[in-house]
Amino acid sequence: MINITCPVCINKETKSDSIVFKVVTDSNETYQIRKCQNCNHVYTYFTHDIDISAYYDEKDYTVKDTKESIFFKIQKLEYNLVLNKIKKLNPSSNTLLDFGSGKGLFLKFAREKGYAVKGVESSVPRARYAKDHFGLEINSDYYKQGMVFGEKFDVLTMFHVLEHIHLSENLLNNLITANLKLNGTLVIEVPNFNSWQSKWAGNRWLHLDVPRHISHFTPAILKKVIADSGCVVQRESYFSLHLGIVGMVQTIFSWFGYKGFLIADLKNKKSLGLLTGLLVVLPLATILESLASLCNQGGVVRCYAVKTVQP
Ligand SMILES: [Zn+2]
Repeated sequence: MINITCPVCINKETKSDSIVFKVVTDSNETYQIRKCQNCNHVYTYFTHDIDISAYYDEKDYTVKDTKESIFFKIQKLEYNLVLNKIKKLNPSSNTLLDFGSGKGLFLKFAREKGYAVKGVESSVPRARYAKDHFGLEINSDYYKQGMVFGEKFDVLTMFHVLEHIHLSENLLNNLITANLKLNGTLVIEVPNFNSWQSKWAGNRWLHLDVPRHISHFTPAILKKVIADSGCVVQRESYFSLHLGIVGMVQTIFSWFGYKGFLIADLKNKKSLGLLTGLLVVLPLATILESLASLCNQGGVVRCYAVKTVQP
């Protein structure tokens, strides 16, 4: 695939979109981060044809059994906080669909809270992991449009999905219209391009993650996309224990010349130097990221919305 159009407004006139900066990957490929002159959305622009599926077989996208890891425990804590918030906003909700459900962790915790859960995950190894390890029902067809499971759900969640996909052919609209009940709850979390960690790291920000991420959302653009899909945002949150703090750690590392991808390095090539650096930097990163979140400038933006329009 190539990407030469804005993933949000599908503006065809992208040649004159301004370049925010360029990113050079480990494998020495250069990508432009551009800002759409039509809608102000920031996106990854590349004209050389790449096999995007190959990029999901490396870095943090490889399927590892991480059930006993510290990441697992942190994610459990974080997801339970999100689930409590959903239940507070929508006390009568019983059914939940996670779009881009990955290895099924969020669905597993949601089921433990009493939800009847289903997932959509187009990566077959990850979908299989969710089925084999947690006994979850996962659809792994590549979503185009329409209802996925023959029913609408009370809750639709999308964690770190929207930055990977082109919203052409009204993908988000279709998904919400066909799969979320009227007055149902929508939860979307993406990296926050307006965050301190993004501004401070520039083209070395952890969550740029090109070319997998084609969109780099600001909270304003995310809220516009949600509003255009017939939903009203009720709550916003900017704090993430795992992705927010890890992102801030990489930002601080980047000041000292680190050019790696921290999530992958922590999973695959833990060195004493890396772990020592992590321990030294972690307290500062936690303080800075907490302050950033209080100022709505944390490394992620998570919106809770209610569907108010059924077209
Ligand atoms: Zn645009």
